[in-house]
Amino acid sequence: MPNKLNLSRYNILGTSETDHDLHIDAETTTPPRSCLACGSDNIVGGGRQEILIKDTPMYGKRVGIYVKARRIRCLDCGKTLTERLPDVAESQRMTTRLYRWIAERSIDKTFISIAHDVGVSEGTVRKIFNEYTAELARTLVFETPEWMGIDEIHIIGKPRGVITNIESNTVVDLLVDRSKVLITNYFMRLENRRSIKCVTMDMWQPYKDAVYSALPQAFVVVDKFHVVRMANAALEVIRKGIRADLTQKQARGLMHDRFILLKREDKLEPFQRLILETWTKNFPALGDAYRAKEDFFAIYDAMTIPEAKAAYDRWQRNLSPTINEAFKPLLTAMSNWETEIMNYFEHPVTNAYTECLNGLIRVIECSGRGYSFDALRSKILYTAGAHKKVVPPFQRKRPSDAFERFTGFSSPTSDRPREKNFGTDISTLLQIIQTGSS
Ligand SMILES: [Zn+2]
Repeated sequence: MPNKLNLSRYNILGTSETDHDLHIDAETTTPPRSCLACGSDNIVGGGRQEILIKDTPMYGKRVGIYVKARRIRCLDCGKTLTERLPDVAESQRMTTRLYRWIAERSIDKTFISIAHDVGVSEGTVRKIFNEYTAELARTLVFETPEWMGIDEIHIIGKPRGVITNIESNTVVDLLVDRSKVLITNYFMRLENRRSIKCVTMDMWQPYKDAVYSALPQAFVVVDKFHVVRMANAALEVIRKGIRADLTQKQARGLMHDRFILLKREDKLEPFQRLILETWTKNFPALGDAYRAKEDFFAIYDAMTIPEAKAAYDRWQRNLSPTINEAFKPLLTAMSNWETEIMNYFEHPVTNAYTECLNGLIRVIECSGRGYSFDALRSKILYTAGAHKKVVPPFQRKRPSDAFERFTGFSSPTSDRPREKNFGTDISTLLQIIQTGSS
């Protein structure tokens, strides 16, 4: 049983416990000396009132402190008031340290598990979470990426915008939707948005419009991955198109062998080459489509924009009319996004995190019961320990500080190195969630 609360302004009067809970009777160490309303010291005692405040768990048990709070009657103003309790979070009926304890855990644990651990309602945990994340949003500023990525990710049934820092491979924000207005506003609010050099994205027109209007100095790059997968999609259209000409057995075989078709030619095993040849010999359209897909991927071997442009022109001229229709979406994308697709050859930046982030979101959505988008966003952005930071090197106290004490002039502090926070490292966060989830 505890003989100490580590709350210096309380004395323990007695304790009792059950299997799960610890009950502590206590009073404040210093009785009030004046009236809370008028400040007069002409006061008399007016009995006690028991106030239950929750505290952080001890010895694996939930803790309730029953404070015998003093009532004071003022002989001057006539009011009877209860003493103010120290170290208690305003209006929450809990110690400030429990408030903090809940706030920090609310980011990476489910509300219901926290509520159970300390004996408060889920609503109370949610309220603290909201207050805490609002505070974090005000105070926690991530460095604006010079090389920024925007991508879409499905969270709670809707595509959302994910903003990443390409260089540090971190997530810096999640946007509730992918509208141009929202993304433009997001850019406009960024600190030093003019330092953004490059934005890599998938082919989503509102992203492009938002960048060109809010970040005119930045160039847009379409990630290779988003382009070449359209060549694969075209090949799939051809494969599905010839299904009608196949026997049931052949159709099943082709379905099975589609992975061979989608594989890069130089990655094929000898037996896979044979299978591929059989299909392409019997179905010339499939052969043409496979060839077109491979040749399209090969455009990305180009080292410069002119080389890439020439390679693409060649590719387009050689495209067989029989498969032209299936490649239409790719051709359209190439013409609508030509500049941005070609920019890749000058700045081959790519978003490496997407798969990782998808995995993380699946883990969170499975573990937490019914997260809101805001809760999920806070969890991803604000989990303590998941941030990639650069702490400035230790600096000797500068002579100017001593100077300041003598003269009363303050020295400029803006040139001092400060800690930089680059946002959430996805793999670190995944580790935290997987090892700490309960
Ligand atoms: Zn008074």
